[in-house]
This record gives sequence, C-alpha cells and structure tokens, in this order.
Amino acid sequence: MPTSYTSRTIFGVLLLAALVGFGWTLAVFVKRIVKGRAEEAIPDPFARLFDWRSWADVIQYWLLQWRVKDPPGAGYPHVHTSIHHLAIFWGFLIITVGTTEYLVQGLWPAFSYERFAGSGLTLAFKYALDMTNLLVIGVICWSVFRRVVLKPRLIPMNLDAGLILGMILALCVSHFMAHGAHYAASVKAGDPALASAFMKAAGAMYAGGSVSYLHTHASVSWWIHVLIVLFFLNYIPYSKHVHLVGALPNIFFRNRGQLGIMPKVELEMEDEDDEDEEADPNWGVERYEQFSWKSLLDNYACTECARCTNYCPAYNTDKPLSPMQLVHDIRYASRDRGDLLSALDAARVAKDVQEVADLEEKLENLKPLVAEGAEEDPSLGYVDTETLWSCTTCGACQENCPVFIEHPMKILELRTNLVLAQESMPQELANAFKGIERNMNPWGIGMDSRMDWVDDDTPVLDEDDPIEFEYLFFVGCAGSFDNRCQKQSHALLKVMKAAGVKVAVAPEEVCCGDPARRSGNEFIFQMMAEQNIETFNNYGVKKIVTFCPHCFHTLSHEYPQFGGDFEVLHHSQVIAGLIAEGRLDLPRTGDRQVVTYHDSCYLGRWNKIYDEPRDVVHAIGGTRLVELDRNERHSFCCGAGGGRFWMEEDTPRVNENRAKEIIDTLPAAGGVVALNCPFCTTMITDGLKAFDKDEDIKVLDIAEMVAAALPSDEPAEAED
Ligand code: SF4
Ligand code: SF4
Repeated sequence: MPTSYTSRTIFGVLLLAALVGFGWTLAVFVKRIVKGRAEEAIPDPFARLFDWRSWADVIQYWLLQWRVKDPPGAGYPHVHTSIHHLAIFWGFLIITVGTTEYLVQGLWPAFSYERFAGSGLTLAFKYALDMTNLLVIGVICWSVFRRVVLKPRLIPMNLDAGLILGMILALCVSHFMAHGAHYAASVKAGDPALASAFMKAAGAMYAGGSVSYLHTHASVSWWIHVLIVLFFLNYIPYSKHVHLVGALPNIFFRNRGQLGIMPKVELEMEDEDDEDEEADPNWGVERYEQFSWKSLLDNYACTECARCTNYCPAYNTDKPLSPMQLVHDIRYASRDRGDLLSALDAARVAKDVQEVADLEEKLENLKPLVAEGAEEDPSLGYVDTETLWSCTTCGACQENCPVFIEHPMKILELRTNLVLAQESMPQELANAFKGIERNMNPWGIGMDSRMDWVDDDTPVLDEDDPIEFEYLFFVGCAGSFDNRCQKQSHALLKVMKAAGVKVAVAPEEVCCGDPARRSGNEFIFQMMAEQNIETFNNYGVKKIVTFCPHCFHTLSHEYPQFGGDFEVLHHSQVIAGLIAEGRLDLPRTGDRQVVTYHDSCYLGRWNKIYDEPRDVVHAIGGTRLVELDRNERHSFCCGAGGGRFWMEEDTPRVNENRAKEIIDTLPAAGGVVALNCPFCTTMITDGLKAFDKDEDIKVLDIAEMVAAALPSDEPAEAED
C-alpha cells in the first residue's frame, strides 16, 4: 500500500476519477431509462421504498439468488445449473468487504478492520476472505474449463468473458501476493501481523526475501489489486457484468402482480391536429423510449445466463428468435438513441442551434429499432421483424429468468407498432384480422353460423326470454367453428349438466380478441372486448366458464381494462371443484389407460393452474397419469400462442417437437394425451399425424374424458 504522500495523492486522484467515472456512467444509464414511459404495473415507484415486499425480494432473489440456483428443467439438455454463480456472487461480496479495507488503506495506511473489530473477529474475517478467494479461484478455473472445453450452448468464451474472468482471477491472486508478502515482511521485522493459516502459508513462499524486497513486492501487488478494482468498476457497466448494476433495482421493481397482461393502448389521439411529436399516439413501440422505464431497466439486468433462450420453443426449433439477444439489442438501441436524445436535450437547453440541428440529423439517420432483414444485415436495424413474429408468447423465457426480465411483453409491444402504425405483418395474419373484423372469428366463417354447433339441449340466452343460469359458457371461436373442438363444447355442457350446474351460452358472443391483441392488432381486440362486455352486461353475467386458456386469460385479466369485471374460471377449475364437492359420479373402471398431460402455456405458466387439471385426470376411473419430462412451469409450448396458430411455420415445427415427446412418454401401444385448450388439441393432433401416431394416441380435452367417464344413465346427457 502507498505510504508516501505522493503515492497516496496519486491513489486518491485515481480513486476519485474512478468513482466519478462510475457515477457518470450510472447517470447516463438512468437518463436513458427514465426516457421510457410510465409503467402501468408500478404507478408509484417511490412507494416501493416503503414496501417490505420489495426489500424481501432483494434478499431472496438478489442476495440469496433464489432463482439462480433453480435446477435445470428435465428435457432441456442445453439448460445447465448456475449453482457456481452463487459461489462467485457470494465470493464477490466478501471480497468487496476486503477490497474496501485495501482502498481505505490507500488513503490512510494505518487503517485496518482490526482497529475497530478486535483481533478475534478480524482473524475470523481473514479466514473467510482467504477461503473465499481460494473458492473463487477454483470457480474461475471451472468457468474457463466449462466455456473452453464443455462449450455450453450460448455461453461462449469471448473477449469480454475472458477479460472479466481474468480480472477476477488476478484480483484473487494479487490478494494472496500482497498479504503474503506483507505477512512475511512483518515476521522478518519481528512483529508478525495478524494472519490466517492460508496467509501464513502464502507468506512462507517469500521466506527468502529481504524486508525491503517484501515491502516492494507487497506494494506492487497492492497496486495491481486496486488498479484492477478501479478499472473493473468502470468496465462493468459496458460489459456482460452490467447486471451487477441493473439486477438489484430490477428485482426491487419487479412486477409482482399477474403477469402477461398487455397494456391498454389509447387508440384515440387527444388532439389530431397537434403536429408535436409528444402528441403521437402510443401505438406499441417504434422507438426505444416508448417502452416503459421498467421494461428498459430490464435490459440492464441480464446476466447472460441464456436460460430464456435455452427454454424458448422458437429457438429450440431453429426460429430466428433468441430472447436473450432481443434484450441486448434493445439495450444497444437505448444506448445509441438515448445518448443522442440526452445530448439533444442539453443542446436545446444551451440554445446551441447548430448542435441541435446536427443531433436531429443524427437521430433521423439512426437505424430503426425494428427492420426486416436486420438478422442478416444488422446495419438495417436492431431487431428483425421475423424475430418478433416467431414468438408464441409461451412465457418460458420470463418464467426462467433469474432477474425477472419480461421478454414477451417487449415482443408484443413491438408487434403492436408493426401492425397498427406500420401495417406490417405476415399475410396469414392479415387474413385472420380480416376474418375477425368482418365475422368476429379469425377463420372468417360467417358470424351467422357461430351458433350452428348448439343442439336442442343447449341453453341459449335470449333477451326476450330470460333463463336462470349460474355460469355463462364462453365458447370461444374454436369451440364454435372447429368441428373437433365443438365436441369439447358439448362435452363440457354434458359435464356441467351432470353436476346440476346451470350454464348458458350467449348467441352474441364474439372472439375474445386474444389472437388479435397478441398479434399486434389492438384495434380489433378492443372492438371485440367492448362488444363482449356489453353482451355480458346485458345478460347480467356474473360468472364465466371457458375451456380455452387464451379466452380465460384475456377475459380474466385484460377485460377489466375496459370495465369488464367478471368471475372467470377455466373449466379445469370448475370440474375439479365439482369433483371435490362430490357432484360428479365418476365410477372406477377396470381398464387402466395410460394418460399423459400437456400443460398449456396460458393455463400453466401464465396462470399457475397446474393441479386442477391433474386432479381431474386422477379422478377419472382407470387412468394412470404419466408426466411428460417437460411439465408444469417447464412445459413445452404447442406452438399456437401469440397468433402463431394462424401463421405458417417452417420445419422443424414446435408442435412436432412436443408430439415426439408425447409419443416417447406413452407406451408404444398408445394411450391418451389429456389437454385443456382447443388450440393445443389441434396442434398436438397435427403433430402426432406427422409421426403417423394420431390413430394410436387419443387426443382428449379433460372435459371429454370426464364426459366419457360419466355413467351412461346420467339423467341429462347433452348428446342424447
Ligand atoms: S415467450 Fe416463449 S416463444 Fe416467446 S421468446 Fe419467450 S420463450 Fe420464446
Ligand atoms: S434475460 Fe434473463 S434468462 Fe435470459 S440470459 Fe438474461 S438473465 Fe438469463
């Protein structure tokens, strides 16, 4: 450590410069982030300071790294444990306490923790510090071996990773060198310093050196150590370790409410004659600053663990979508555009007309956030349109992100702008939109045939002839128009009748709007939502049951944005409840059929309904449930969500990937795959067809399974 006045002054100047540099970088980041719009889920960010749950989140997910230590989901060979990150993180914290002593000694050489904490506590800390340094050296060696030899997918050994690993290693080694030489010098001088056994061992390596040599050696090692720290401090924000800055606030401000709710887009311009840029309607996101500040903060929290991408069904079937890369690309866009915007603000304040003009021109020439062909030629834009259209909105990325980054919402907001503001979308989607706009369903089948599926036993609401009902059965477009799914509609009605539940359907029902909203057409979604809500209100609807998880999610969580507050239940919840209450008689049969169950993304991951459908399957006599490897929160999408059902897909297909797993799980002779979603029914059936297994494996909705298990003499059978 520096003992002379000159060296202490030099150190003081370097320390101040490093701190100022770090503070300046943080200020630049904050400026970029606060340019974002308000976050709907966090109306008062400052209130979080007084909310104990935010602090508890920091302890659980940042300090204890609760999600980092998640074991990899079965069936995902490219997801690896990150448990070693715990050692690095905790090592980093403990080493930082030791480094703080070093830094203070640079200004005040006589400083030591021993002066304040006493020798016992200080010695214990020295042991902890030395063991941590040794552990971190081991983990760094493992990390290098992993990246260079094992080569896990998406975790490469590049310059940035090499530099960071090298610097951490150098920090640990210089710690032993500085303290070892210092201890050896103190022994030679006849006044041994307080040291752990590790440090005494390190000191033994210097036994042959003179006192002045040892002092010089300790001093050089000390300088190496602190210079790395000061450089590291300023390199971190520009490296993959930017998460050291962004992860903590991102966890603190995480969205703790229901996830997967798209923000309502104000479609009306307040003043259509106002040419001011500020008056632009916020139709999705075209420029980075149209994201919410929280969405922008996300991009600074990424640890580059690659879990999101390794769980992504699109990436796993060779589509041009890596949610991890998307987050980085948006960060690069925020860097380039955000810094120009900040400079423009400053030039305007300074009334520097020329500078303002230059900056405006630079902004004008900046590549767009989203562009077709950006994947092939990054000079065209930051994010490729194909990347956005590849997403099934399954939520696997978000579910597995250790720092709560919400990727799907970013994709959906970018899609909304493509569709509403730029009229850019795949042709198949344009057809689906036309179908919804004209006939209230994405197939475009005449609205007048929506109720063709009902039979004489189906209670249909009629304003002129009111009937009593407990639940409105929201059938959805698939249950109304698709021949296969119409059977599911009848099955559910049969089950409800058997349990004595009064249920009715509304002939004015239209598409719930999910396919439009998640494909970016907020305009059509809002039309559908308002029309359905009006219908529900006209009939005095209180409770709604639906067998489509997409309708369930939209009606439950997104209709309240338009004043539609109803109790919405998925049929798996209702049927499980009826079974638990003993209102359904499901006799046990002798036949043991093997059943596997596919968790749909919108019921499972987005709404955490995992148990009820399984309870239903278990309650059906003669079934033996065999779980798929990729189940519950690690389920693999069927490929239909996010409007993908209506888009063409190149091979390999998501549904075929899932179908293969189902085939491999069930016995060779076949079995049943139980489902809870009409779109999964179609996708999984098509997937099985690709392997010629659609005859051997029955694809059944859980309502169909229950309906088939009812005693044949049930008093009120829909199909009588
Ligand atoms: S929501 Fe699903 S498909 Fe979309 S990026 Fe995330 S993991 Fe991939
Ligand atoms: S976005 Fe989350 S899951 Fe994906 S690499 Fe970054 S930290 Fe990991």
